[in-house]
Amino acid sequence: MKKLSLANTPTRIEQVQLMDADLPVNLFVKRDDMTGVSVTGNKIRKLEYLLQQALDEGATDIITTGAVGSNHARATAMACARLGFQCHLLLVGPEDAPDEGNLFLDRLAGADVRFISQEEYDARRDEVMNAWKEELDGEGKNTLIIPVGGSNGLGSFGYVDCFDEILVQEKDMGITFDAVVCVAGSAGMLAGLAYGNALRESKKEIIGISVAAPAFVIEEKLLPRIASEMNELKGTNLAVEATVIDDYVGRGYALSREEELEFLWDFVSQTGIILDPVYTGKAMYGTVSEILNGRWEEKENILFIHSGGAFGWTSEQIRALLRKE
Ligand SMILES: *Cc1c(COP(=O)(O)O)cnc(C)c1O
Repeated sequence: MKKLSLANTPTRIEQVQLMDADLPVNLFVKRDDMTGVSVTGNKIRKLEYLLQQALDEGATDIITTGAVGSNHARATAMACARLGFQCHLLLVGPEDAPDEGNLFLDRLAGADVRFISQEEYDARRDEVMNAWKEELDGEGKNTLIIPVGGSNGLGSFGYVDCFDEILVQEKDMGITFDAVVCVAGSAGMLAGLAYGNALRESKKEIIGISVAAPAFVIEEKLLPRIASEMNELKGTNLAVEATVIDDYVGRGYALSREEELEFLWDFVSQTGIILDPVYTGKAMYGTVSEILNGRWEEKENILFIHSGGAFGWTSEQIRALLRKE
């Protein structure tokens, strides 16, 4: 399958040492936060395929959607700026959302932004995007809609590539990762890793830590839908399996608990690796908690995929963190 080259890959794998916790396994981090500066994070791997499709179809304009602070929206806006597509973003949030973090970068990249309420988004997001496409196409544009998180079958092949990188890096490093842990949001990253695991028959444990949805929604809806699209695109019939942990959702999407923030701050100050409060902070908190609770007692090496998110820090979230001094 053809793809653009937009990300700095392969991303490095580093072992993490925490000074305040003696971890019974080796914890490694794959630095997908280093896929690029403006495009930092996991979405650019999916966009390499999705924007190739846009080029192949002769698209001029791209529409995508997400939360107001969406990393996917920002990565899309930046990649579109680089490639010459006009980017249109349908973001969940109020009209007067502060221009900070990812939203600022969306605007800096020249994206055309429209806002939608959570209720409308839940009820008729696809209709709204289709109507927007019709509007643009009516003006002579050729518009491609990219789904939330870039998480369709095609985009998720970006994480099959990531999985293949991991297999090469294991050989170079002379070690084997027993489990690969990632954030599960729209579940494209998880699906891609799980598909890669099945395709290469490598029998690793693939684990997604949910930051919003209950585990059954990811296991029974999101993952099977993406996996069946991947099987169809590739002409395979693989059983795509992953474990989903939903014990670390906490107060819900983009809402932090004190213990998460405390952990996050300790982690960053002991490693120099930036975590974000929405995705990687929760998932790393979950990963280290599971390690300390003995989940991988018999295992040796755990790999966490750092999926980016540094621009997710809004002034509200920064205040929530710093108030704790
Ligand atoms: C989008 C995102 C995720 C979740 O990836 P999905 O493929 O949507 O599950 C994780 N971490 C960060 C920083 C993200 O932006």
